[in-house]
Amino acid sequence: MRLTDLSKMTRSFISTSTMPVLFLGHGSPMNAIEENEFVASFRQLGQDLPQPSAILCISAHWETKGTFVTAMENPKTIHDFYGFPKALFDVEYPAKGSPELALETKKLVKKTEIGLDDKWGLDHGAWSVVKHLYPAANIPIIQMSIDYSKPAQYHYELARELSSLRKKGVLILGSGNMVHNLRMVDWKKLNEDNYGYDWAIEANEKMKAFILDGNHQSLIDFQTQGRAFELSIPTPEHYMPLLYVLGLKEEREEVEIFNDKLIGGSLTMTSLRVG
Ligand code: ZN
Repeated sequence: MRLTDLSKMTRSFISTSTMPVLFLGHGSPMNAIEENEFVASFRQLGQDLPQPSAILCISAHWETKGTFVTAMENPKTIHDFYGFPKALFDVEYPAKGSPELALETKKLVKKTEIGLDDKWGLDHGAWSVVKHLYPAANIPIIQMSIDYSKPAQYHYELARELSSLRKKGVLILGSGNMVHNLRMVDWKKLNEDNYGYDWAIEANEKMKAFILDGNHQSLIDFQTQGRAFELSIPTPEHYMPLLYVLGLKEEREEVEIFNDKLIGGSLTMTSLRVG
């Protein structure tokens, strides 16, 4: 057999040591083009992590009925926001897709029939953070949607079915915000360092304690955790990516918390590295 034939046969997702899993608080889309401590952490993280073979991103900004993965060769950069400067609309993140990973993910998951999508692309929940991790856009990336019709427990269990991808060099990344109440943001205090309402601080502290205690069930049962959680999670889409990341955590793995700050009273940038 010639060497060229051999290289064609080599699978792109070979076994490696287990990749970490990330939850990244993405906050404002402006983080894509602004310089601040949060994006500096993302940049550093990109340098610290082992080089992934591909990225699978679960973004708060792609909700569907049923679960889909993007399966196109070249996902487009979606500017899914309005009222922001032109410079933000000009951002393109030209990373390739990975139809192979999309198919592998579909085969792997037994809990539901995963659909292969050819219309979505990369929404800002994905590109606004991944662009700091991998500025060269040299890592293929797919997104997996969040089925809005399913409860928290379902998402947590679905995530567990993805765990073998971590051993194939795939970086699984949830992008959302643990505390996310846009209606209550105090826009005048956006630039005040670590400014949070009492309930947002309380929820952030409780969430971190549950995470560090490995008490995932209390986080899955977020709707029974009282007023601070109710105000922090008025709708679940920015919270659900956290449950995917926790579902992927193995028993003995360490969790590192970073970017642990509040913004405008009612958002947290709190982020996690698992493993
Ligand atoms: Zn968002």
